[in-house]
Amino acid sequence: MVVKNWKRVLFAWIVAGVLSGLSLSRADAKTVEVLPNVFTIVHGEGSDSNTTFIITREGVIVIDTRVSPLEAEKVMAEIRKRTDLPIVYTINTHYHGEHTFGNQVFQDSKTLIAHKNVRRALLGLSGREQLEKLKTSDIPGLDAVKVTPPNVVYEKKMDVYLGGYHLQLIHRGRGHTDGDTLIILQELRTVVAGDLIYNRQFPFMGDGYVDEWIDALQYLEDQDNELVIPGHGDVGGKPIIIAMKHYLLTLKGLVLEQVKKGQSLEKTKETLRPVLQGKYKSWGKPERIDGNIEQAYLEYSFKEGL
Ligand SMILES: [Zn+2]
Repeated sequence: MVVKNWKRVLFAWIVAGVLSGLSLSRADAKTVEVLPNVFTIVHGEGSDSNTTFIITREGVIVIDTRVSPLEAEKVMAEIRKRTDLPIVYTINTHYHGEHTFGNQVFQDSKTLIAHKNVRRALLGLSGREQLEKLKTSDIPGLDAVKVTPPNVVYEKKMDVYLGGYHLQLIHRGRGHTDGDTLIILQELRTVVAGDLIYNRQFPFMGDGYVDEWIDALQYLEDQDNELVIPGHGDVGGKPIIIAMKHYLLTLKGLVLEQVKKGQSLEKTKETLRPVLQGKYKSWGKPERIDGNIEQAYLEYSFKEGL
C-alpha cells in the first residue's frame, strides 16, 4: 500500500510543497498532506508550532496539540474535515506549552503518551512557569488552558501500533529538553522530530543541552529517513537535520573558543551575535541568538570546570 509508493509520494509531496511555498507566505497556517493519511499543520496562529495527525483505519493519532484549546480546536476541525474516526492516541514530543497546552481538547482519546519527564514537568513548576510565561504574550485563549499531563509514559523506547501504522517513540537522551521524543514511522521513512529541529529558525534553547542535542541530530542523520517533520517550520528532508546540526556545532565552536579565552558572557554575546546573525541571515527569530549563546556559554563553562 502506502509503503510501496513512498518514492512517488515523496516526489508528489516535494512538488506540492514547492508550489504551495510559491503561493503562500511563510505566515499562513496550512495543512500539508506529507504522505497519504499523514498531515502536518504548519505556520499555525498564536504560535507557529507544528501538529501532525495520522488517520488510520482504526482511528487517529495526534502528535502535539498546539498552544491553547482554541488552537487545538482548529486542529480538531482539520481532522473532522477528513474523518469521523475517534482520536485514539495523542502524543507530546516534549513539554513546552506550544506543543501541549491544547492537550485537553483530545482528552477523549484517554491515552496521552510522552516521555516520563514530560509528565513530571507538566505536573510541576515547569508547566506552571510555561503557562505564566506564555500568558505575558499576546496569544489568545490561554486562560482556558488546563495543563494536562500525559497518562502513559515511557523511558527509552516505545512502540505504538494502530490501523497498519507503526510508530517508534525514541528518547535519545537530553537535547531540546530532558524529555524529547522522536517519532519514527519506519515503513514511511519519516520522522517527527519535535523541537530538536527548527526549520530555518533559531531554536529556543532555554531548556537545552548542546552536546546531547548534537548527538540526537547525528543519530537522526544516520537513520534512513527521507521526510523530516520539524517542531517549527516547513516539512523537509535530511538537509534540515544537517542544517540544525551545523548551527549547533557552529554555536558550540564559537562559544567554546570564547570560554577558553576566559571571555565574560556579555563580551561573548557582543562578539558572537553579529557572527551568527551573518551566518544565518535567512533564519527567523534572531532575537533568540543571545539566549542560545548564553545556554552554550553556561554548558561549556561548566564542562571546562570554570
Ligand atoms: Zn520546544
